[in-house]
Amino acid sequence: MPRTHKSLPRLFVEPALSAGAAIELGKDQSNYIGNVLRMREGGELVLFNGRDGAWLAKITHAGKKSVSLEAVAEAAPQTPPADLWFGFAPLKVGRLDYLVQKATEMGAGTIQPIITRFTQARTRRDKLEAYALEAAEQCEVLTLPAIAPEIPLAELIANWPARHGARRLVFADESAASATPIDTIASLKAQSVGLLIGPEGGFSDEERELLLAQDFVVPISLGPRILRADTAAVAALALIQAIIGDWR
Ligand code: SAH
Repeated sequence: MPRTHKSLPRLFVEPALSAGAAIELGKDQSNYIGNVLRMREGGELVLFNGRDGAWLAKITHAGKKSVSLEAVAEAAPQTPPADLWFGFAPLKVGRLDYLVQKATEMGAGTIQPIITRFTQARTRRDKLEAYALEAAEQCEVLTLPAIAPEIPLAELIANWPARHGARRLVFADESAASATPIDTIASLKAQSVGLLIGPEGGFSDEERELLLAQDFVVPISLGPRILRADTAAVAALALIQAIIGDWR
């Protein structure tokens, strides 16, 4: 993607974006642009809303309390919504934002927290949405991933065919015999896929048996070492995007 305007601040806004559109920033964003970045009239930034691509915008008014902008020109066309589904067992808060941020950067279209037997944390959907939005602003991601409400693993498995149709669920199985996942992932080319990463404590034996018994589940090994869940997530997302995803 051509990296135009890479030095300009990027902000997610709700309203429609088109040439000449007038945008009023809310309190927090006005404070950030006006008082933190101390930008003034004529200053430029990039706006996106997840629907209309990225737009170069000029500040038309920079007051103490509010900042107004005018969308001037499209800086990048809207990218199609990402199909990749990413399910993970929430980690302790410190790494939860990291995981959501990495899944956003890696192009996940849906981010779904899964509660497993050894999951040690619970999630707040609004927090995850904020983490994803911040990652999108920082990494020029134009489609915001959908954050799904957390559900137990058993419910995910029971509802998978009805909810996901033919989508295959790539299961990062830390108990699998060490092997490269390249051929397994390549065999899923042209199919919808999801990726499931377990918690710090791993999957229980019962959960692993449940997963391996499903015909839509495709287990993969991520090599001979036990990776931390956030490492495993980034490694597996990179493999999927590089082999059958949108890195081609
Ligand atoms: N503490 C657990 C490991 C959990 S690692 C144990 O010692 O068994 C957290 C998650 O990362 C796992 O549930 C799995 O989804 C993934 N993962 C880590 N290393 C992996 C590997 N070598 N192969 C496949 N998945 C792995």
